[in-house]
Amino acid sequence: MLKDQDRIFTNLYGMHDRSLKGAMKRGHWNGTAEIIKRGRDTIIEQVKASGLRGRGGAGFPTGLKWSFMPKQSDGRPSYLVINADESEPGTCKDREIMRHDPHTLIEGALIASFAMNANTCYIYIRGEYIREREALQAAIDECYDAGMLGKNAAKSGWDFDLYLHHGAGAYICGEETALLESLEGKKGMPRMKPPFPAGSGLYGCPTTVNNVESIAVVPTILRRGPEWFAGFGRPNNTGTKLFGISGHVNNPCVVEEAMSIPLKELLERHCGGVRGGWDNIKAVIPGGSSVPLLTKEQCDDAIMDFDWLREQRSGLGTAAVIVMDKSTDVIKAIWRLSKFYKHESCGQCTPCREGTGWMMRVMDRLVRGEAEVEEIDMLLSVTKQVEGHTICALGDAAAWPIQGLIRAFRDEIEDRIKAKRTGRVSAVAAE
Ligand code: SF4
Repeated sequence: MLKDQDRIFTNLYGMHDRSLKGAMKRGHWNGTAEIIKRGRDTIIEQVKASGLRGRGGAGFPTGLKWSFMPKQSDGRPSYLVINADESEPGTCKDREIMRHDPHTLIEGALIASFAMNANTCYIYIRGEYIREREALQAAIDECYDAGMLGKNAAKSGWDFDLYLHHGAGAYICGEETALLESLEGKKGMPRMKPPFPAGSGLYGCPTTVNNVESIAVVPTILRRGPEWFAGFGRPNNTGTKLFGISGHVNNPCVVEEAMSIPLKELLERHCGGVRGGWDNIKAVIPGGSSVPLLTKEQCDDAIMDFDWLREQRSGLGTAAVIVMDKSTDVIKAIWRLSKFYKHESCGQCTPCREGTGWMMRVMDRLVRGEAEVEEIDMLLSVTKQVEGHTICALGDAAAWPIQGLIRAFRDEIEDRIKAKRTGRVSAVAAE
């Protein structure tokens, strides 16, 4: 188990003073100027050496991403944009950072921006996060008053401005290029890539978009050393990680743990176990609503990291663990996700716009058992035609949960269709 002295987030539950003074007492903002004086290249090398991979879902190495930014400006400014849109169903980890431990993020924003030659950083926060915005803005204001932001920020010699921008609550604005469009005041629609944001991002300038947690862990990594961070988890899956566990556990929670912790240990140690006991698991979505679910058999051996879950054809995603016990109508649960993705599709590419609606309507009939058995394969083939054929990853996100369902629970779908036909049991109706 992760020891208390190894926790990066020291006020995740809001039990302590979240002001600048309180944060400093817990070790944040300690030696920030010295870290910056190590220089850009050293900071990027150390973040690379820590093995930190992006915490927003894709798991791309953070230091490598930073190294794509131009070393010398061609006259255009560089920007860091922090993605605080956190709209993936089941995901609620960045929220805890922003409302209870905001100084980890602000200090991280300063150091990361310096490393990428950016004097300006924007935090794009989800529309529904009103209290989180208030808490974060209060912390930003406090930092300006104390000289931690603005000219010669934290006496580092670097001028740095940090702006908090409030979105309007569209899921798609969590996609990095849609986020940039929205930040520019346009409709939040994903851009075609290339060009990638590091070449042409916000206002056509070099931009890096990082998740809140990815940035918030950076100051502690640099203070304690990359080896310390790399000491947790398995190779290529290092560090500590916030896990958000919801659904059928006795105590749903957000907790910081070492990467690669077994799922069983995570649930039993921190969540009071699965409702009705471990054997009562039906399925677990391990990384937010867009990744395929794990069956009970997979859960028995599950290791919570990027590589293990990818090998199981699922993913760590945002590490939002959704636990479903045997009382769950799993077909209906995945139908609900299909409805969500259909609603959130921005509509600019045909496979996603049409496919999400089509998939949802077939799922709707599968829930009620009012379909032909052949339609299961037809649905599977539609998911394959959507997957990988769209501008952004929303198409994949809509397809994967259904693929996972069919892989693991085809029997149950077929049973429901047969039962409906013979009138054996009453099928559950979609609402
Ligand atoms: Fe929009 Fe969907 Fe295409 Fe993404 S995949 S750009 S959400 S239509």
